[in-house]
Amino acid sequence: MKLAARVEQVSPSMTLAIDAKAKAMKADGIDVCSFSAGEPDFDTPKHIVEAAKTALDQGKTRYGPAAGELKLREAIAQKLQRDNSLCYGPENILVTNGGKQSLFNLMLATIEPGDEVIIPAPYWVSYPEMVKLAEGTPIIVPTTLESGFKISPDQLQQAITPKTKLFVFNSPSNPTGMVYTPDEVRAIAKVVEETGIWVVADEIYEKILYDGAEHLSMGAVSPEAYERTIVSSGFAKTYAMTGWRVGFLAGPVPIIKAATKIQGHSTSNVCTFSQYGAIAAYSHPQDCVQEMVEAFAERRAFILNCFDAMPGITCPKPNGAFYMFPSIGATGLTSLEFCDRLLDEQQVAAVPGIAFGADDCIRMSYATDMDTIQRGMERLSNFLHAIAS
Ligand code: PLP
Repeated sequence: MKLAARVEQVSPSMTLAIDAKAKAMKADGIDVCSFSAGEPDFDTPKHIVEAAKTALDQGKTRYGPAAGELKLREAIAQKLQRDNSLCYGPENILVTNGGKQSLFNLMLATIEPGDEVIIPAPYWVSYPEMVKLAEGTPIIVPTTLESGFKISPDQLQQAITPKTKLFVFNSPSNPTGMVYTPDEVRAIAKVVEETGIWVVADEIYEKILYDGAEHLSMGAVSPEAYERTIVSSGFAKTYAMTGWRVGFLAGPVPIIKAATKIQGHSTSNVCTFSQYGAIAAYSHPQDCVQEMVEAFAERRAFILNCFDAMPGITCPKPNGAFYMFPSIGATGLTSLEFCDRLLDEQQVAAVPGIAFGADDCIRMSYATDMDTIQRGMERLSNFLHAIAS
Protein backbone atom coordinates (compact mmCIF):
# COMPACT_ATOMS: atom_id res chain seq x y z
CA MET A 1 0.00 0.00 0.00
CA LYS A 2 1.37 3.40 -0.95
CA LEU A 3 0.84 5.71 2.01
CA ALA A 4 -0.47 9.22 1.61
CA ALA A 5 2.15 11.91 1.07
CA ARG A 6 0.80 13.88 4.01
CA VAL A 7 2.03 11.16 6.38
CA GLU A 8 5.57 11.46 5.02
CA GLN A 9 5.62 15.15 5.89
CA VAL A 10 4.75 14.57 9.53
CA SER A 11 7.37 13.77 12.18
CA PRO A 12 6.47 11.25 14.86
CA SER A 13 6.11 12.75 18.35
CA MET A 14 9.60 12.81 19.88
CA THR A 15 8.18 13.41 23.34
CA LEU A 16 6.26 10.14 23.13
CA ALA A 17 9.32 8.33 21.70
CA ILE A 18 11.63 9.27 24.61
CA ASP A 19 8.89 8.48 27.09
CA ALA A 20 8.45 5.04 25.44
CA LYS A 21 12.21 4.34 25.62
CA ALA A 22 12.31 5.33 29.31
CA LYS A 23 9.26 3.15 30.03
CA ALA A 24 10.83 0.18 28.20
CA MET A 25 14.00 0.58 30.28
CA LYS A 26 11.87 0.70 33.44
CA ALA A 27 10.04 -2.46 32.35
CA ASP A 28 13.47 -4.13 32.04
CA GLY A 29 14.05 -3.35 35.71
CA ILE A 30 16.30 -0.33 35.13
CA ASP A 31 15.90 2.50 37.64
CA VAL A 32 15.07 5.43 35.35
CA CYS A 33 14.34 8.92 36.64
CA SER A 34 11.97 10.28 34.03
CA PHE A 35 11.38 13.98 33.42
CA SER A 36 9.81 13.38 30.05
CA ALA A 37 6.08 13.06 30.67
CA GLY A 38 3.77 15.98 30.01
CA GLU A 39 1.13 14.89 32.49
CA PRO A 40 0.48 15.50 36.19
CA ASP A 41 1.51 12.57 38.38
CA PHE A 42 -1.53 13.06 40.65
CA ASP A 43 -4.71 11.01 40.59
CA THR A 44 -7.82 12.71 39.23
CA PRO A 45 -9.59 14.36 42.21
CA LYS A 46 -12.18 12.10 43.85
CA HIS A 47 -15.25 14.28 43.25
CA ILE A 48 -14.55 14.19 39.50
CA VAL A 49 -14.17 10.41 39.50
CA GLU A 50 -17.37 10.07 41.55
CA ALA A 51 -19.31 12.25 39.10
CA ALA A 52 -18.23 10.01 36.20
CA LYS A 53 -19.15 6.88 38.18
CA THR A 54 -22.58 8.33 38.94
CA ALA A 55 -23.01 9.15 35.24
CA LEU A 56 -22.22 5.52 34.40
CA ASP A 57 -24.71 4.29 37.01
CA GLN A 58 -27.33 6.62 35.53
CA GLY A 59 -26.82 5.13 32.10
CA LYS A 60 -25.00 8.09 30.54
CA THR A 61 -23.34 5.64 28.20
CA ARG A 62 -24.91 6.52 24.87
CA TYR A 63 -24.08 8.76 21.93
CA GLY A 64 -24.56 12.42 22.72
CA PRO A 65 -24.50 15.60 20.66
CA ALA A 66 -21.28 15.86 18.59
CA ALA A 67 -20.64 19.32 20.07
CA GLY A 68 -20.80 17.96 23.62
CA GLU A 69 -23.34 17.71 26.44
CA LEU A 70 -25.25 20.98 26.78
CA LYS A 71 -24.58 21.04 30.54
CA LEU A 72 -20.85 20.86 29.95
CA ARG A 73 -20.90 23.55 27.27
CA GLU A 74 -22.84 25.75 29.70
CA ALA A 75 -20.31 25.04 32.47
CA ILE A 76 -17.45 25.92 30.10
CA ALA A 77 -19.18 29.15 29.03
CA GLN A 78 -19.67 30.12 32.69
CA LYS A 79 -16.04 29.36 33.46
CA LEU A 80 -14.81 31.45 30.51
CA GLN A 81 -16.95 34.37 31.71
CA ARG A 82 -15.96 34.02 35.38
CA ASP A 83 -12.24 33.33 35.00
CA ASN A 84 -11.33 34.84 31.64
CA SER A 85 -13.86 37.66 31.08
CA LEU A 86 -14.83 36.03 27.78
CA CYS A 87 -18.50 36.17 26.87
CA TYR A 88 -19.60 32.96 25.16
CA GLY A 89 -22.77 30.85 25.10
CA PRO A 90 -22.96 27.07 24.63
CA GLU A 91 -23.28 27.66 20.86
CA ASN A 92 -19.73 29.08 20.90
CA ILE A 93 -18.27 25.89 22.35
CA LEU A 94 -17.21 22.50 20.98
CA VAL A 95 -16.24 19.78 23.46
CA THR A 96 -13.35 17.78 22.02
CA ASN A 97 -11.17 14.76 22.74
CA GLY A 98 -8.62 16.86 24.57
CA GLY A 99 -6.96 20.09 23.61
CA LYS A 100 -5.21 18.17 20.88
CA GLN A 101 -8.38 17.47 18.96
CA SER A 102 -9.68 20.99 19.46
CA LEU A 103 -6.57 22.39 17.75
CA PHE A 104 -6.67 19.74 15.05
CA ASN A 105 -10.34 20.37 14.28
CA LEU A 106 -9.68 24.09 14.14
CA MET A 107 -6.77 23.67 11.71
CA LEU A 108 -8.80 21.37 9.47
CA ALA A 109 -11.74 23.74 9.55
CA THR A 110 -9.78 26.87 8.65
CA ILE A 111 -6.55 26.13 6.79
CA GLU A 112 -6.37 25.81 3.03
CA PRO A 113 -3.35 24.67 0.99
CA GLY A 114 -0.69 27.37 1.11
CA ASP A 115 -2.12 29.19 4.13
CA GLU A 116 0.52 30.24 6.63
CA VAL A 117 0.33 29.66 10.36
CA ILE A 118 2.70 31.64 12.58
CA ILE A 119 4.18 29.55 15.39
CA PRO A 120 6.72 31.01 17.82
CA ALA A 121 9.55 28.57 18.68
CA PRO A 122 10.07 26.83 21.05
CA TYR A 123 6.64 25.39 20.34
CA TRP A 124 4.54 22.44 21.47
CA VAL A 125 5.51 19.57 19.16
CA SER A 126 2.12 19.05 17.59
CA TYR A 127 1.46 22.58 16.27
CA PRO A 128 3.59 22.40 13.09
CA GLU A 129 2.58 18.82 12.37
CA MET A 130 -1.12 19.67 12.63
CA VAL A 131 -0.63 22.60 10.26
CA LYS A 132 1.11 20.29 7.76
CA LEU A 133 -1.65 17.70 8.04
CA ALA A 134 -4.10 20.48 7.18
CA GLU A 135 -1.90 21.30 4.15
CA GLY A 136 -0.84 24.64 5.53
CA THR A 137 2.67 26.03 5.96
CA PRO A 138 4.06 26.49 9.47
CA ILE A 139 5.97 29.76 9.76
CA ILE A 140 8.33 29.26 12.68
CA VAL A 141 9.47 32.43 14.44
CA PRO A 142 12.46 31.72 16.68
CA THR A 143 12.70 33.37 20.10
CA THR A 144 15.67 33.47 22.46
CA LEU A 145 16.44 32.66 26.05
CA GLU A 146 17.28 36.36 26.51
CA SER A 147 13.75 37.38 25.47
CA GLY A 148 12.31 34.80 27.86
CA PHE A 149 11.38 32.67 24.83
CA LYS A 150 8.61 35.15 23.99
CA ILE A 151 7.75 36.53 20.58
CA SER A 152 7.83 40.34 20.41
CA PRO A 153 5.09 42.39 18.72
CA ASP A 154 7.69 43.40 16.07
CA GLN A 155 8.57 39.79 15.32
CA LEU A 156 4.90 38.95 14.94
CA GLN A 157 4.29 41.95 12.71
CA GLN A 158 7.21 40.98 10.46
CA ALA A 159 6.03 37.38 10.12
CA ILE A 160 2.59 38.42 8.85
CA THR A 161 1.98 38.13 5.09
CA PRO A 162 -1.18 38.14 2.96
CA LYS A 163 -1.17 34.35 3.35
CA THR A 164 -1.27 34.42 7.18
CA LYS A 165 -4.28 32.47 8.38
CA LEU A 166 -3.61 31.93 12.05
CA PHE A 167 -1.19 32.80 14.83
CA VAL A 168 -0.68 30.21 17.57
CA PHE A 169 -0.32 31.86 20.97
CA ASN A 170 0.47 29.52 23.88
CA SER A 171 0.80 30.99 27.36
CA PRO A 172 1.78 29.49 29.79
CA SER A 173 3.99 27.66 27.35
CA ASN A 174 4.86 24.06 26.77
CA PRO A 175 7.87 23.56 26.57
CA THR A 176 9.34 26.71 28.19
CA GLY A 177 6.95 27.33 31.09
CA MET A 178 7.04 31.03 30.19
CA VAL A 179 3.99 33.20 30.83
CA TYR A 180 3.33 36.41 28.91
CA THR A 181 2.55 39.23 31.35
CA PRO A 182 -0.78 41.06 30.86
CA ASP A 183 1.13 43.99 29.32
CA GLU A 184 2.88 41.64 26.88
CA VAL A 185 -0.46 40.07 25.92
CA ARG A 186 -1.87 43.56 25.32
CA ALA A 187 1.11 44.47 23.13
CA ILE A 188 0.66 41.32 21.01
CA ALA A 189 -3.12 41.94 20.87
CA LYS A 190 -2.40 45.38 19.41
CA VAL A 191 -0.78 43.72 16.39
CA VAL A 192 -3.81 41.43 16.12
CA GLU A 193 -6.17 44.42 16.25
CA GLU A 194 -4.20 46.40 13.67
CA THR A 195 -3.67 43.58 11.19
CA GLY A 196 -6.87 41.59 11.71
CA ILE A 197 -5.08 38.22 11.83
CA TRP A 198 -6.76 35.31 13.59
CA VAL A 199 -5.32 33.89 16.79
CA VAL A 200 -5.70 30.55 18.46
CA ALA A 201 -4.97 31.02 22.16
CA ASP A 202 -3.90 27.70 23.67
CA GLU A 203 -4.64 28.28 27.34
CA ILE A 204 -4.42 24.71 28.58
CA TYR A 205 -1.91 25.61 31.35
CA GLU A 206 -3.64 28.83 32.44
CA LYS A 207 -4.18 27.68 36.05
CA ILE A 208 -0.62 26.48 36.64
CA LEU A 209 1.10 29.72 37.64
CA TYR A 210 3.83 30.64 40.16
CA ASP A 211 5.24 33.66 41.98
CA GLY A 212 2.11 35.75 41.42
CA ALA A 213 2.17 35.39 37.62
CA GLU A 214 -1.11 36.44 35.99
CA HIS A 215 -2.85 34.94 32.99
CA LEU A 216 -4.68 37.29 30.66
CA SER A 217 -6.71 35.80 27.82
CA MET A 218 -5.91 37.37 24.45
CA GLY A 219 -9.64 37.65 23.70
CA ALA A 220 -10.25 39.65 26.89
CA VAL A 221 -8.00 42.52 25.79
CA SER A 222 -10.48 44.28 23.50
CA PRO A 223 -13.61 43.65 21.43
CA GLU A 224 -11.39 43.44 18.29
CA ALA A 225 -9.11 40.84 19.88
CA TYR A 226 -12.17 38.92 21.12
CA GLU A 227 -13.60 38.76 17.61
CA ARG A 228 -10.35 37.39 16.21
CA THR A 229 -9.49 34.86 18.92
CA ILE A 230 -10.38 31.22 19.27
CA VAL A 231 -9.63 29.59 22.62
CA SER A 232 -8.33 26.06 22.87
CA SER A 233 -8.14 24.46 26.29
CA GLY A 234 -8.95 21.36 28.27
CA PHE A 235 -9.13 19.55 31.59
CA ALA A 236 -6.06 17.31 31.30
CA LYS A 237 -3.40 19.44 32.94
CA THR A 238 -5.43 21.43 35.49
CA TYR A 239 -7.37 18.50 36.92
CA ALA A 240 -4.97 15.59 36.28
CA MET A 241 -7.41 14.23 33.69
CA THR A 242 -5.05 13.36 30.84
CA GLY A 243 -6.67 10.01 30.11
CA TRP A 244 -10.24 11.32 30.20
CA ARG A 245 -9.80 13.13 26.89
CA VAL A 246 -11.86 16.24 27.42
CA GLY A 247 -10.95 19.60 25.93
CA PHE A 248 -12.76 22.39 24.16
CA LEU A 249 -12.67 25.02 21.49
CA ALA A 250 -14.45 28.36 22.05
CA GLY A 251 -14.95 31.04 19.44
CA PRO A 252 -17.23 32.57 16.82
CA VAL A 253 -20.24 30.41 15.90
CA PRO A 254 -19.34 29.81 12.20
CA ILE A 255 -15.90 28.44 13.18
CA ILE A 256 -17.33 26.29 15.97
CA LYS A 257 -20.00 24.96 13.61
CA ALA A 258 -17.35 24.06 11.00
CA ALA A 259 -15.16 22.31 13.60
CA THR A 260 -18.23 20.48 14.92
CA LYS A 261 -19.03 19.27 11.41
CA ILE A 262 -15.53 17.77 11.14
CA GLN A 263 -15.79 16.16 14.57
CA GLY A 264 -19.21 14.79 13.64
CA HIS A 265 -17.59 12.80 10.85
CA SER A 266 -14.52 11.69 12.77
CA THR A 267 -14.90 10.95 16.48
CA SER A 268 -18.43 12.26 17.21
CA ASN A 269 -19.02 13.17 20.83
CA VAL A 270 -16.41 12.87 23.57
CA CYS A 271 -16.96 9.86 25.86
CA THR A 272 -20.25 10.78 27.55
CA PHE A 273 -19.43 9.88 31.16
CA SER A 274 -16.03 11.64 30.89
CA GLN A 275 -17.97 14.81 30.13
CA TYR A 276 -19.86 14.44 33.43
CA GLY A 277 -16.51 14.29 35.22
CA ALA A 278 -15.55 17.52 33.47
CA ILE A 279 -18.79 19.21 34.59
CA ALA A 280 -17.88 18.33 38.19
CA ALA A 281 -14.36 19.71 37.67
CA TYR A 282 -15.74 23.16 36.83
CA SER A 283 -18.68 23.23 39.21
CA HIS A 284 -16.88 22.30 42.46
CA PRO A 285 -14.50 24.44 44.56
CA GLN A 286 -11.03 24.61 43.02
CA ASP A 287 -8.98 23.56 46.09
CA CYS A 288 -7.68 20.48 44.25
CA VAL A 289 -6.06 22.72 41.63
CA GLN A 290 -4.47 24.86 44.32
CA GLU A 291 -3.03 21.77 46.02
CA MET A 292 -1.47 20.47 42.81
CA VAL A 293 -0.01 23.87 41.93
CA GLU A 294 1.53 24.11 45.43
CA ALA A 295 3.21 20.74 44.94
CA PHE A 296 4.51 21.79 41.50
CA ALA A 297 5.81 25.04 43.01
CA GLU A 298 7.85 23.16 45.61
CA ARG A 299 9.43 20.95 42.96
CA ARG A 300 10.13 23.90 40.69
CA ALA A 301 11.95 25.76 43.49
CA PHE A 302 14.02 22.65 44.27
CA ILE A 303 15.07 22.13 40.63
CA LEU A 304 15.95 25.79 40.07
CA ASN A 305 18.13 25.65 43.16
CA CYS A 306 19.89 22.52 41.86
CA PHE A 307 20.46 24.11 38.43
CA ASP A 308 22.26 27.04 40.08
CA ALA A 309 25.02 24.68 41.20
CA MET A 310 25.37 22.79 37.90
CA PRO A 311 27.97 23.59 35.24
CA GLY A 312 26.88 24.04 31.61
CA ILE A 313 23.22 24.70 32.25
CA THR A 314 21.31 28.00 32.16
CA CYS A 315 17.62 28.11 32.90
CA PRO A 316 15.28 31.10 32.81
CA LYS A 317 12.77 30.99 35.67
CA PRO A 318 9.51 29.60 34.29
CA ASN A 319 6.35 31.14 35.76
CA GLY A 320 3.87 28.54 34.62
CA ALA A 321 3.06 25.00 33.45
CA PHE A 322 5.30 22.21 34.83
CA TYR A 323 8.31 22.37 32.55
CA MET A 324 11.86 23.67 32.73
CA PHE A 325 13.58 24.46 29.47
CA PRO A 326 17.27 24.88 30.31
CA SER A 327 19.89 25.70 27.73
CA ILE A 328 22.59 23.05 27.46
CA GLY A 329 24.41 24.85 24.63
CA ALA A 330 27.51 25.34 26.80
CA THR A 331 28.10 21.56 26.90
CA GLY A 332 28.79 21.52 23.15
CA LEU A 333 26.31 18.67 22.66
CA THR A 334 23.20 18.75 20.50
CA SER A 335 19.99 18.23 22.44
CA LEU A 336 19.62 14.75 20.98
CA GLU A 337 23.19 13.73 21.94
CA PHE A 338 22.66 15.22 25.39
CA CYS A 339 19.39 13.36 26.06
CA ASP A 340 20.63 10.08 24.59
CA ARG A 341 23.78 10.12 26.71
CA LEU A 342 21.90 11.26 29.82
CA LEU A 343 19.53 8.32 29.47
CA ASP A 344 22.26 5.78 28.70
CA GLU A 345 24.87 6.97 31.21
CA GLN A 346 22.72 8.19 34.11
CA GLN A 347 19.28 6.73 33.38
CA VAL A 348 17.63 10.15 33.37
CA ALA A 349 15.00 10.84 30.70
CA ALA A 350 14.55 14.38 29.33
CA VAL A 351 13.24 15.52 25.95
CA PRO A 352 15.61 16.99 23.34
CA GLY A 353 14.81 20.63 22.61
CA ILE A 354 15.02 19.94 18.89
CA ALA A 355 11.56 18.39 19.16
CA PHE A 356 10.32 21.88 20.09
CA GLY A 357 12.46 23.77 17.59
CA ALA A 358 15.35 24.63 19.96
CA ASP A 359 18.37 22.35 19.63
CA ASP A 360 20.40 23.98 22.42
CA CYS A 361 17.84 23.23 25.11
CA ILE A 362 16.20 20.25 26.79
CA ARG A 363 12.76 19.96 28.33
CA MET A 364 12.38 18.60 31.83
CA SER A 365 8.90 18.04 33.20
CA TYR A 366 8.56 18.22 36.98
CA ALA A 367 5.17 16.56 36.97
CA THR A 368 6.80 13.72 38.82
CA ASP A 369 7.36 12.86 42.50
CA MET A 370 9.94 14.59 44.69
CA ASP A 371 11.98 11.44 45.27
CA THR A 372 12.48 10.97 41.51
CA ILE A 373 13.32 14.66 41.16
CA GLN A 374 15.93 14.54 43.93
CA ARG A 375 17.64 11.44 42.55
CA GLY A 376 17.37 12.72 38.98
CA MET A 377 18.99 16.05 39.86
CA GLU A 378 21.88 14.28 41.53
CA ARG A 379 22.42 12.18 38.41
CA LEU A 380 22.11 15.17 36.09
CA SER A 381 24.72 16.95 38.18
CA ASN A 382 27.06 13.93 37.91
CA PHE A 383 26.53 13.88 34.15
CA LEU A 384 27.27 17.58 33.73
CA HIS A 385 30.35 17.43 35.95
CA ALA A 386 31.63 14.43 33.94
CA ILE A 387 31.16 16.36 30.67
CA ALA A 388 32.78 19.50 32.08
CA SER A 389 35.87 17.66 33.36
N1 PLP B 1 -1.62 22.20 24.12
C1 PLP B 1 -0.45 22.09 24.77
C2 PLP B 1 0.44 23.27 24.82
C3 PLP B 1 -0.08 20.88 25.38
O1 PLP B 1 1.07 20.80 26.04
C4 PLP B 1 -0.96 19.77 25.27
C5 PLP B 1 -0.57 18.46 25.83
O2 PLP B 1 0.56 18.16 26.10
C6 PLP B 1 -2.17 19.95 24.61
C7 PLP B 1 -2.47 21.16 24.02
C8 PLP B 1 -3.17 18.83 24.43
O3 PLP B 1 -3.59 18.27 25.62
P1 PLP B 1 -4.77 17.21 25.69
O4 PLP B 1 -5.07 16.76 24.31
O5 PLP B 1 -4.26 16.12 26.55
O6 PLP B 1 -5.93 17.94 26.31
